[in-house]
Amino acid sequence: MERICPVCNKLYNISIRCSKCGNLMAEKGRDDEYLDDYTANMPLENSTCCTHIFYCYKCDKMEKICINNEFM
Ligand SMILES: [Zn+2]
Ligand SMILES: [Zn+2]
Repeated sequence: MERICPVCNKLYNISIRCSKCGNLMAEKGRDDEYLDDYTANMPLENSTCCTHIFYCYKCDKMEKICINNEFM
């Protein structure tokens, strides 16, 4: 069995509410795309979750959410 991220694999859409205003946050992709070289080169030891960026248009707030990978 393999652990995969349900969001990356488009198994379902995850709904994250903004901790400030409760608005539904938009999924902005994987954290990787926002990482600088230093963090990107760090070993991927924690493969049990996948960090995604969520954005609230109301508060102009970005949040990193770690999505639990699921066994397929
Ligand atoms: Zn993912
Ligand atoms: Zn908000």
